[in-house]
Amino acid sequence: MKLDILVFAVHPDDAELGCSGTILKHIAEGKKVGIVDFTRGELGTRGTAETRDQEAKESGEILGLHVRENLRFKDGFFKNDETHQLEVIKMVRKYKPEIILTNALDDRHPDHGRAGDLANDAIFLSGLIKIQTSIAGTVQEAWRPRLVLQYIQDRYIKPDIIVDISDFIDRKIACIKAFKTQFDSPDTKEPQTYISSPEFLEAVIARSREFGKNIGAKYGEGFTSRKLLGVDNLFNLK
Ligand SMILES: [Zn+2]
Repeated sequence: MKLDILVFAVHPDDAELGCSGTILKHIAEGKKVGIVDFTRGELGTRGTAETRDQEAKESGEILGLHVRENLRFKDGFFKNDETHQLEVIKMVRKYKPEIILTNALDDRHPDHGRAGDLANDAIFLSGLIKIQTSIAGTVQEAWRPRLVLQYIQDRYIKPDIIVDISDFIDRKIACIKAFKTQFDSPDTKEPQTYISSPEFLEAVIARSREFGKNIGAKYGEGFTSRKLLGVDNLFNLK
């Protein structure tokens, strides 16, 4: 299946926190969007790999994703090396997306920055025809998307572009809350964590509000780009 947008996320819930409004918006416009999670988030203080699998599935249904895969890399210990790059290259070539969204290149959780680097390196290498990959015996063609953006997740980073997600904030919160073991669940006996307090979710909403305000919208999601961004028509900018 060819996708319009492919999202790479090192932990199931990263895509939801960083760019689910943008995913929802583009799916509503008829675009095909998928997420490839790198790990099952098995080192998360709360829940298990199995509960995260189920939560990712439920969130994916709220998002209306066309596909969601998990590469089962080792949470916390995966490397940006040839073995991991080849697995990511296979996903780029399998789905041939026009646009890829990845983790931020620098964030509080070190997995995020390393995954952002891994994704960016693999996306570049995916365009080189002399790197050969195959899935189920079928040799893949080289592919490089025309645009790669990094979503902004925990640490504040000045965005290069902001997407208006005002119509999708409620569903963004709903898909984040699908990760029941991770976020504000007052009845749990599991330990409190950085992300489990009500204030964390409030901060996610406040960040969206701040990004939105900067473009004259109610809510927004910010992205960074390693290359300069162009536009065909100035009237498409707001
Ligand atoms: Zn994460």
